[in-house]
Amino acid sequence: MGTPKYDIGIIGSGIIGLATAMRLSHGHPRSKIVVVEKESQIAQHQTGHNSGVIHAGIYYAPGSQKANFCSTGGAMLRRFCDQHEVPYEMCGKLIVAVDESEVPGLEELFRRGTANGADGLEILGQERLREIEPHAAGVKAIWSPNTGIVDYDDVSTAYCDEMRDSGGELIADAEVVGTERRDGTICLETTAGDVEVGNVINCAGLHADSVALMMGQDVGVRIIPFRGEYLSLKPEKTHLVNGLIYPVPDPRLPFLGVHFTKRISGSVEAGPNAVLARKREGYSKTSFDWGDTVDALKFPGFWRMSRKYWKVGISEQYRSVIRSAFVSSLQTLIPELQDQDLHQPGAGVRAQAVDAAGNLVQDFSIAQTENAIHVVNAPSPGATSSLAISRYIVDLAKRSFDLN
Ligand SMILES: Cc1cc2nc3c(=O)[nH]c(=O)nc-3n(C[C@H](O)[C@H](O)[C@H](O)COP(=O)(O)OP(=O)(O)OC[C@H]3O[C@@H](n4cnc5c(N)ncnc54)[C@H](O)[C@@H]3O)c2cc1C
Repeated sequence: MGTPKYDIGIIGSGIIGLATAMRLSHGHPRSKIVVVEKESQIAQHQTGHNSGVIHAGIYYAPGSQKANFCSTGGAMLRRFCDQHEVPYEMCGKLIVAVDESEVPGLEELFRRGTANGADGLEILGQERLREIEPHAAGVKAIWSPNTGIVDYDDVSTAYCDEMRDSGGELIADAEVVGTERRDGTICLETTAGDVEVGNVINCAGLHADSVALMMGQDVGVRIIPFRGEYLSLKPEKTHLVNGLIYPVPDPRLPFLGVHFTKRISGSVEAGPNAVLARKREGYSKTSFDWGDTVDALKFPGFWRMSRKYWKVGISEQYRSVIRSAFVSSLQTLIPELQDQDLHQPGAGVRAQAVDAAGNLVQDFSIAQTENAIHVVNAPSPGATSSLAISRYIVDLAKRSFDLN
């Protein structure tokens, strides 16, 4: 049996891959860890295009991995940021019921958040709501003081530095295009040459399903990309938002609805929506990739999902194409906002696992196969939860890989 150059190869340098690499190199200094990344820099996809929110764990089904990882992960993240001087701000968040019809949904969220252990949640009436966000409309709101903002690029850079300081390596510009098991080792065939590893942790985000298939494993779901488009408030209008203002979301969907997000830089973003993307890493409305589109169309779960959610899909597409519809959904939260107050369109693409029955997989999903762990579904709050997820993955690795 051959000896691979590395004990563990992690595919993908998003926040989950880097958190895992950091924890492994810290905890197992005699194991050789490598992160293989197709881009020239770390965190170029979901991690580098997300909303930058440290979630408190309000929305998720009690007992789910999302609920558990988000509350513990958020606390771990803040501790890490304190220790590594990564700036963050606990600006708090309001979830607003804009009329009486949304109040039962808001109260259900309050029950969930409380059951999940989200600290300090309060239900506010109109007066207190206006004290916190004077420009927001609404009849009632949940106030979550334990929600904050951070730049996940900065967090990822700190994870990567820590990983390297503990002996881990990053190979950039190396897309894994194939894998082969040879003599007890796994050869990752990359665009920068072969990398021999003993075990693989697949943290490929939008490509997690394809990387698993490349390794001969069908994890039973496909990643369907959803583009989230947003606009920024012009600097002279950022005073309209003090922190984070969210609507009461549709409980059937894993997306939170268009909202206002203050960024750690001081800018304010409005969005994102959730439209089906025709390219996994397609950040513009015209982005298209034949391979990605055919992959989705060939998957029966895609058609079943389309049948279940066609109404939501059409309304999201409409809001994407007709800017006045997008602005009008923002005005339900901040009525005085005008189209001309918004500029600088941007977008991120979410990796959403869909199962064969067409269900949008709501929880995190991590699968284990021979010598491999696959992070199959890591949607929001994946960045908040990154340290808790990495702890879970490393525990799995300790049990199934022969680690030093
Ligand atoms: C629009 C948006 C807003 C969000 N907002 C929040 C938020 O406010 N708070 C929060 O907690 N979470 C948020 N999330 C979720 C969070 O960003 C993700 O859960 C997290 O970034 C997932 O990290 P990852 O490492 O799994 O994936 P990614 O960051 O996508 O990283 C995957 C990496 O794998 C690499 N890769 C893929 N295939 C290969 C290959 N074949 N070979 C080599 N490398 C490969 C990619 O280049 C990429 O660098 C948001 C997500 C989006 C898209």
